[in-house]
This record gives sequence, C-alpha cells and structure tokens, in this order.
Amino acid sequence: MLVTRVVGDCPGCGAKDSFGNVSVHEYVLRGCKHCQYQSVVWLPEIRKKVIYLDQFFFSGALRGKDPRFKVAAERVKRMCRLQLLVAPYSSVHEDETHQWRGHEGMTNDQLMEFVKATSRGAEFEKDYNVERTQVLKAWEAFLKGQPPEYIFEDRDAIQGTLEEWDDYFRIDVGGYMRDIELKRQLKEEAVDELVKVLDQWQASIQTFDEAVALEIHDAARQYVDTYLTMLKRHAEGDFSATINSPMVAKVIEHMMQWLPEDQPLPERLQRCGEFFQSPHFAEVPNQWLSSHMFATMREMVKRGTFSNRDEARKRLNGVFEDIKHISLYAPYCDAIVIDKFMADLVRRPTVNLQKRYGVKVFSLSSWDALLDWLDSLEAGMSKEHKAGVAAAYH
Ligand SMILES: [Zn+2]
Repeated sequence: MLVTRVVGDCPGCGAKDSFGNVSVHEYVLRGCKHCQYQSVVWLPEIRKKVIYLDQFFFSGALRGKDPRFKVAAERVKRMCRLQLLVAPYSSVHEDETHQWRGHEGMTNDQLMEFVKATSRGAEFEKDYNVERTQVLKAWEAFLKGQPPEYIFEDRDAIQGTLEEWDDYFRIDVGGYMRDIELKRQLKEEAVDELVKVLDQWQASIQTFDEAVALEIHDAARQYVDTYLTMLKRHAEGDFSATINSPMVAKVIEHMMQWLPEDQPLPERLQRCGEFFQSPHFAEVPNQWLSSHMFATMREMVKRGTFSNRDEARKRLNGVFEDIKHISLYAPYCDAIVIDKFMADLVRRPTVNLQKRYGVKVFSLSSWDALLDWLDSLEAGMSKEHKAGVAAAYH
C-alpha cells in the first residue's frame, strides 16, 4: 500500500519501518508496504471554524515586510493543521490574484500558490454559485409561502464539510478560465463610474432606507434585463446566448423551472417581479449586505468621506471585490480579516455584520484580538482531538 507516514514495523509480516498511515477519513487507515496487513484508528468528531482572509492579508504575508501578517499567517496555518480551522479561498481571490500585476519580483502565480497553500486547498463555492443558491432558496421559500428569513446551510458556500479530517492529498482542480484583461478593464470602468457617482451621492437627499431599496431594485433589474437580453438573442437565432450570457441571466432561467411550463411567459415574469419586490429577495444575504454596505457608504460620502476624489479613487479600487466577497462569504464564516476601511464600514450600525450574522470582524486595528481568537481555538481542543491529530499527522 502507499504508506505516506511510517509509524513503525509491520505487526503482520514484521518488515522493518514499513507500516504506517495510508489515508484519512473518519479514521486513519494504516497499512504495510509489503503485505496486506491493515488496521484503522478511529478519529473523533470535529467541527472546524471558518475564517475568511481578505486579499490584503495574503499579499501582505507574501510580501513579508510587515511581520504582523507573517505571524498571523503562521498561526492560521497551525490551526488548520490541527483541524480546528479552514481558511478557504474563493473565485474572487482568484480574480483578484490574476489581476494583480506583481510586486517587487513576486508574480501572481506565486501569490496564488501562497493563497492555495495557506488554505490547504479548501475552497468556497464559486461566487456565482453562492449567489444563485441564495436567490433560488429564497425563491422557493417565496413560492411556498414560507417566512422570508434566509436559512443558512454550509453547503451554500463551502465545498466539502467542516466535519471532515484532511486527507493527505488534495486535487487542485483546473486552471483559471476567466478573461483577465477583460476583468481588469471592467473593474477600472466600474471604479470610474463609482467615482463619478460620488458627486450624486453627496448631493443626494434620499434617506438611508430609500438608498437600500434603490440598490435592491437595481440588482433585481439587472437580473431581469440580462435574462430578457438572453431571450431576445435566442429569438433572433443566436444560439451562443446560452453559453455566453452573464451568469446572472441564468438565475431567472432557473427560477422559471419552478413555474408551470404552460403558464404564459408574461405571467411567469410577473411572478418573478413579485418575488424581486418581496422581503424574500431583500433578505437574500448577499443582497441585504451589499445594499446596506453601499447605502452606508453613501451616507459616509454625504458626511464628507472621500471629499478628496483622487484619494477616493485609490481607496475604491478594490471596493467592488471587497463588497462582493464580504456579502457572499462572511455570513458563512466565524471570523473575517478585512482591511480597516471595510472593517469600519461593516461595523457601522446600519450594517452591523457581527451582530446580524454572528461573524467576528478583524482588521489591522484589532490584530491582537485576532491572534487571541486563533489561540483560543487551540486552547479549547479536547484530548481526543489532540490524539487524533497525533495519529493522523504526527
Ligand atoms: Zn507487513
């Protein structure tokens, strides 16, 4: 058998240093390099915590200039090895890393390798899958007349389970498929637009609640518009519409499958429209969070934040990714590490991420608290858990 960690001589055939760990499941499978002898060591039940590390954490740790990142990164890795924690990476990390233009001789491949090494291959579901899952679950609740409060399940956002012990090998699935230059360009355009919008925000007389409603309305309109564009392309005989329409267009396509096929299209669209105006849609976690984060930013702009537009441009450069990340993944995490600006934003009473979704928010201003939290995980390890770690990964 393929023995990856030798524990000693084989109890079966007696061959010297040929018996050891083969694989890890709910038990450690042990075998011999020379004979068929096998045994298992059962592992206790575990439940890992989830931490989300923002891109600034990874690039800071890789750059190595600020020792705080390195200390925290080592501690995160230790807790992951102890099976107490996972730090999954996401498709948004990949997008950001591939757009990164490198820094002082470090390439974006090195950064991606570092991100993957830190996360030990653990992954969040792709951003568009989390978004679609959340909308479809809310749609189902809407159609069944259930309450609008969203019901979280780990599998909405996290691949694999938090109860499983790490095996020795993970498969790194596939290369990066998105168009990097296009992404870069779209991002720059989006930031340009946002900087232009700051003037409107500053002069805006809308209330906070109106701003939230507007954000949600815009998101709904985007779903409907992209879907209608896709239908139109189909009707005109453009069959590539199915494969190269934006992911959001497919969300309504999926929603339609829940409605009777013989119902005329306008009626089905009407039903979708009712959903988009309902509390069910407003309570979709990524909608709720991104609308409240943007509306809170708008309030800050009204009060004078970003009055220096050049500074604003610099700061807002990563803001769409940050808001996307946080709104999609934070509710599934026990802790998130984000930059100071975002941490300040999500701590404001109009977002209050920690209270609403029970996630601890850390930034460079609360680094000691982050280290303390990580240490507390190890301090709380049971004797059985420690023995399991020793048996599986000694
Ligand atoms: Zn043997």
